[in-house]
Amino acid sequence: MLRATKEAIDGIGMTSQRTRNRLIERLREKKITNESVLEVMRTTPRHLFLDEALAHRAYEDTSLPIGHGVTISQPYIVARMTELVLSQGVPDKVLEVGTGSGYQAAILSRLIKQVYSVERIAALSNQARIRFSQLDYNNINLRHTDGSWGWPEHAPYPVIIVTAAPPEVPQALLEQLADGGILIIPVGDQGSSQSLLVVKRNGDEFLRTKYEDVFFVPMLDGADR
Ligand code: SAH
Repeated sequence: MLRATKEAIDGIGMTSQRTRNRLIERLREKKITNESVLEVMRTTPRHLFLDEALAHRAYEDTSLPIGHGVTISQPYIVARMTELVLSQGVPDKVLEVGTGSGYQAAILSRLIKQVYSVERIAALSNQARIRFSQLDYNNINLRHTDGSWGWPEHAPYPVIIVTAAPPEVPQALLEQLADGGILIIPVGDQGSSQSLLVVKRNGDEFLRTKYEDVFFVPMLDGADR
């Protein structure tokens, strides 16, 4: 697998470091305060997680289409959810449901030792795998599967983050949480906004805290192929 060149990673014009720094200023204005999150977002080439035709929009604070009817999440939401991932200290591993472009997993992988990420669309999972190897992300483990069942082989997880919205919290994800662990998940119906929830496990009790309203693509049943 060919490595991405320094020129490709550095970007130019609308993908240059100057443009990226402006995004970081916007995130600060929107009250993202975790400096390690801001630093990783400053240095991660989001333009390489998009089709070339959309690369010039990579550092706008907006979600963008990545094919297959799904989107790469808005940078603000990625930053916010990453702050929540780190809210109890740095976990030793994290499970992400909804690999998509791989951008959120890439951000997590610079902060957490082992990242597990599952995706129901094979083409997206394969493309993310190629990106990770070109960009030297070596601690991200991918699986093509329906993530509403989690990834039981590596459970329990101190943190699970879900980047697609189911109508209800999937039971399997609660079961794969470590004691004291948190599940970060947008929950709600399609067509309306969803609530970003943090569900904290204490033994057999699950305490829900509601955060802001969000718009995610739906969590769908089953994996393709
Ligand atoms: N974290 C991604 C966001 C992609 S959008 C990024 O940074 O780009 C959400 C993703 O969740 C889509 O790729 C969609 O295919 C996937 N998804 C939806 N339902 C799923 C399910 N049941 N299991 C696994 N992935 C799912």
